[in-house]
Amino acid sequence: MKPDLLDILLPARRASIRIPAMKLFLFDVDLTLIRTGGAGIRALDAAIADLFGIEHAFRGVEFAGRTDRAITEDGLTRAGLDASEESLLRVRSAYIRHLSVELASPGCTVHRLPGSKEILETLAGEPEFLCGLVTGNWKEGAFLKLAACGLDAFFRYGAFAENGRDRRMLVRDDMDLAARWSGSIFDPRNVWVVGDTPHDIDCGRAWGTNTLGVATGPYGSDALKEAGATAVLGDLADTGAVMGILG
Ligand SMILES: [Mg+2]
Repeated sequence: MKPDLLDILLPARRASIRIPAMKLFLFDVDLTLIRTGGAGIRALDAAIADLFGIEHAFRGVEFAGRTDRAITEDGLTRAGLDASEESLLRVRSAYIRHLSVELASPGCTVHRLPGSKEILETLAGEPEFLCGLVTGNWKEGAFLKLAACGLDAFFRYGAFAENGRDRRMLVRDDMDLAARWSGSIFDPRNVWVVGDTPHDIDCGRAWGTNTLGVATGPYGSDALKEAGATAVLGDLADTGAVMGILG
């Protein structure tokens, strides 16, 4: 039988070379990779105080697992202020300014959580692995916090509060970005969302991805399991155990 043109031009077609599917890992930031010791909340309060003269505008507002866009809208509304897009952008600018000062202040206790750098280094060493961010932080805020902990260089892209109010939509945007970045289409079964709250678990599950709950935030292992996490760990300290799940 005569070989067809494709068999001559693409010998791999006959050799059935398997190219490993790429895997995508999407990390939350606060209380998953790092702890800022309240720098973010102080910066937000300072921003509202600066702009509107209202103190502690965010007292009683839920922060964990929510986007900065949603948190800022709640803070503005509770303070009886207009939560328009223009107001949000003004608060964002003031917040970023104050966050830079907070993170650089001598009393700031921002630090990496156990194992976060080691797991990112391990993932970065695998050519078929891609890491991104799925965080409720404003983009500049996320990178300021990560840079304060020496973790910013592990991430080239992500989805942030600029992408929307609803955390679920961030995962969709992340998978689109990762596809454009890598040239691969990601099967959700090859995607992991890693985070510390039921919101993180929910946003991965909404798109059929795997989810790793890490109990280093306000929620314990049981709450993360109840939220439907594929796997739950107390922290990321044991790189071998984490890779046993993700790899
Ligand atoms: Mg978090």
